[in-house]
Amino acid sequence: MSQPAPKRGKPKSIQGKMFDVHTALEQLKDEHLQCRDFGHSWRDYTARWLPKERVYDVVLECTRCKGKKNRTLSARGERLSTSYTYQDGYQIKGAGRLDQAARDEIRLLSVTKLVGGKVTPIKRRRTA
Ligand SMILES: [Zn+2]
Repeated sequence: MSQPAPKRGKPKSIQGKMFDVHTALEQLKDEHLQCRDFGHSWRDYTARWLPKERVYDVVLECTRCKGKKNRTLSARGERLSTSYTYQDGYQIKGAGRLDQAARDEIRLLSVTKLVGGKVTPIKRRRTA
């Protein structure tokens, strides 16, 4: 009996076992990269009192990535639950918790896009 030859497939996608965080990070949209770098820019979106449950249902929306933060507060303001809803592509499925190297790479990708892109260094020009 001969062993079958090992299969030599093309590199798997990010769904594969050899998860490539680097590739996944490079595919993030700019706004997702910036929210991961700077943190979300939460703004109030909706808030309502639910009389039956006697809780406040609060939704904040990120002005940059449009992610949503859903909070439930008691009548006294205690946080009962917090959850997040993100747009497609924000979460890196399969990556788990990002390590320090991945976080460094996020900051680097974010800043290099800013340096090379629409934001130019501040130069004060004297007009007088
Ligand atoms: Zn955001």
